[in-house]
Amino acid sequence: MSGYLADYHVHTRFSFDSEETIGAIRKMAAARGLSEVCITDHFTVNPKDKSFGLYPYREAYEEYLRDSAGAGPAVRFGLEIGEGQYRRDTLDDFLAQAHYDFIIGSVHNIGDITIRQTIRERGADYAFDAYYDEVLGLAEEGDYDVLGHLDLVNRYAWDEQGIYRLDAYTHQIEAILKAVIHRGRGIEINTSSLSKNCRQFMPNPWIVKRFKALGGQIVTLGSDAHSAARVGDGLSEAAALLRDCGFEALAAFEKRRPRLMPLGQ
Ligand SMILES: [Zn+2]
Ligand SMILES: [Zn+2]
Repeated sequence: MSGYLADYHVHTRFSFDSEETIGAIRKMAAARGLSEVCITDHFTVNPKDKSFGLYPYREAYEEYLRDSAGAGPAVRFGLEIGEGQYRRDTLDDFLAQAHYDFIIGSVHNIGDITIRQTIRERGADYAFDAYYDEVLGLAEEGDYDVLGHLDLVNRYAWDEQGIYRLDAYTHQIEAILKAVIHRGRGIEINTSSLSKNCRQFMPNPWIVKRFKALGGQIVTLGSDAHSAARVGDGLSEAAALLRDCGFEALAAFEKRRPRLMPLGQ
């Protein structure tokens, strides 16, 4: 693997749905020849979310300081915040006393109900509209560096009902991308769904192309690995997609400040 390549979406045992250590993540990032890896555990301030109250900031930061130093790929300390457009005061208080390099803003729920459950209970038409409304709210109001898995609703709609849609939502998607660009933020290309039923990047390549055409510059790549074995999965394919879309750089973050790193050939 030549050139800069970094995995900016990885979960560890400080997420409710992972048991991995930061040390194991770092070792795998080195074995896979990555330039950097960023830990992005789940965090929410929504008491109804299944991850609520389960993120031990101090313990996570101490393990990070202990196990991230030394030779090999740089390890960054980040967070994946769910529905960060709500309860901003609580969120701002938390972030003010924390030390993050990078924040992914994600939508996992519509109101207090998961996207998958919303599709089951209210149908795909409702879920698509409501999902993009939530993402637009996050794009405009949230504190984030990149938006996570921007069309996640497609993955669940495909699983539940064999539905995958872009055309009907291009207006909402463009409004989201414009808000992201206006605020100087970015998007990620999440590769986790390449191995799921829909076998597609999140977001769909069309959205990445529109982001570029509208003037977007900041893109990170993320495997969304919940175990060390999956760190780096799909990143070479995602980097190739980025080049196809006209990007020549990947974003890296330190203390929430982006740097653009030239993509390898
Ligand atoms: Zn997520
Ligand atoms: Zn994630």
